[in-house]
Amino acid sequence: MVQSSKNYIDGAWIASKTRKTFVSTNPATGQVLGRFQASDERDVTAAIHAAEKAFSKWRLVPAPKRGEILLRVAQLLRAKKEEFSRLVTIEMGKVIAEGRGDVQEAIDFLEYIAGEGRRMFGYTTPSELPNKFAMSVRDPIGVCGLITPWNFPIAIPSWKIAPALLCGNTIVFKPASDTPLSALRFTELFIKAGLPKGVLNVVTGGGTAVGSPLVKHKNVRCISFTGSRDTGDWITKNAGIKRVSLELGGKNVIIVMDDADLNLAVDGVIWGGYGTTGQRCTATSRVVVHQKVKATFERMLLNRTKRLRLGNGIHPKTDVGPMINKAAIEKSQRYVEIGKQEGAKLLTGGKPIRGRGHFFQPTLFTNTTSDMRICQEEIFGPVVSLMVAKNLDHAIDLANNITYGLSSAIYTRNVNNAFTAMRDLESGVMYVNASTIGAEVHLPFGGIKGTGNGAREGGWTAIEEFSEHKAIYVDYSGTLQRAQIDV
Ligand code: NDP
Repeated sequence: MVQSSKNYIDGAWIASKTRKTFVSTNPATGQVLGRFQASDERDVTAAIHAAEKAFSKWRLVPAPKRGEILLRVAQLLRAKKEEFSRLVTIEMGKVIAEGRGDVQEAIDFLEYIAGEGRRMFGYTTPSELPNKFAMSVRDPIGVCGLITPWNFPIAIPSWKIAPALLCGNTIVFKPASDTPLSALRFTELFIKAGLPKGVLNVVTGGGTAVGSPLVKHKNVRCISFTGSRDTGDWITKNAGIKRVSLELGGKNVIIVMDDADLNLAVDGVIWGGYGTTGQRCTATSRVVVHQKVKATFERMLLNRTKRLRLGNGIHPKTDVGPMINKAAIEKSQRYVEIGKQEGAKLLTGGKPIRGRGHFFQPTLFTNTTSDMRICQEEIFGPVVSLMVAKNLDHAIDLANNITYGLSSAIYTRNVNNAFTAMRDLESGVMYVNASTIGAEVHLPFGGIKGTGNGAREGGWTAIEEFSEHKAIYVDYSGTLQRAQIDV
């Protein structure tokens, strides 16, 4: 059944002022799943006003009580895990096991953040003056604009909504236009869990029509964005003076040393490179293999890549699901041509599948060099490029020769190699003997270099992202005491 959904503003489901709608479709079948509001600036403004109004009360709700609401959302989501997992697969395309992972990640994070309501630690520190108390507490920031991509339609919204609410902020949430149904169904859980009206507002619609006015609005005090580097760059230039956190793309690498367990390394590349059809910011798109094991590793990887079953992710035997849309297929195809022109050797794949749905063959290039565009630019598809290194130093140089810095991994049985890589690989997330994907919710998540602007989601750092430090001094001396002067 096609669902018709409205925006959620100030505790009510309301149609956009534009009276226009758009549809969301199943990328595996083309089936229309729902019709959504193609909103514009007027709807965004109404949502911001609602969030501003709600802020004065929500900020005073004790953090443990705010946490209790998040825990109820986690419980509701757990009770409906299978329904939500299937929704993720149907709307985004990832295979059902990963659909379940997407939802589980949100449950885990909601539970983790709910507990933060009883921590949200500030600091106390001695004052330099007698009879004076010094501390730092956390304040909410205000109205937060949350903008999310389509590749984790439940998990990424949870990474932003949960800590923003816990810290006492109110929200205007703009989900990706490819996955609005998942976002709105997720929103319903917050309503059911008892979130007061106006605290979480959701406006669907295009990046330019809805995202841009949200970014530019002066009463929005914080923008938290996950998406492409181009959009992140635009936000940086247009947000004005407000807190901005950016989680952008990656060009993540696995190093395979000559002492590695090669079967394990193949597992890691298959999972990291072709899981989620390569549409993860942490996807393994580059592999640097030691020259001594290059031929063997390449043969093993090719063999496994060719055996991957491409199909509708809802079928449990499917290994690789569809890509999100036609533009994504075209982008992968474009990069395959670029790779060939640059002199890389195409070992398998490289073509879209004709017919219904957006399918692209798992693709493997070898004999690539680090300056090639397929080794430098984010493809965000099932395309993996193999390079060769002479030794560990060379491998690390190749791995770091990139403007992104999200995730990296090394497969080695040598503890010295492992620790050298842990120290020298330039990325915000790093793995030893595990793939580039698979971050856990209670550790900081984010990248360095062109992947972001230093913000970290997940873990305790999510509280940093959505709160302000307020330094407070209490002078109980009864006299005028002058810091730095009465020394
Ligand atoms: P986009 O940047 O195109 O879109 C992300 C979100 O931004 C969508 O909601 C989009 O809306 C919105 N948007 C687009 N233009 C604007 C604008 N001018 N102002 C405000 N909002 C805007 O990225 P993709 O959807 O293509 O997502 C894939 C990208 O996300 C990849 O590059 C990937 O690496 C990155 N990503 C990063 C992660 C990380 O944690 N580092 C995690 C996951 C993905 P609409 O959908 O309506 O166009």
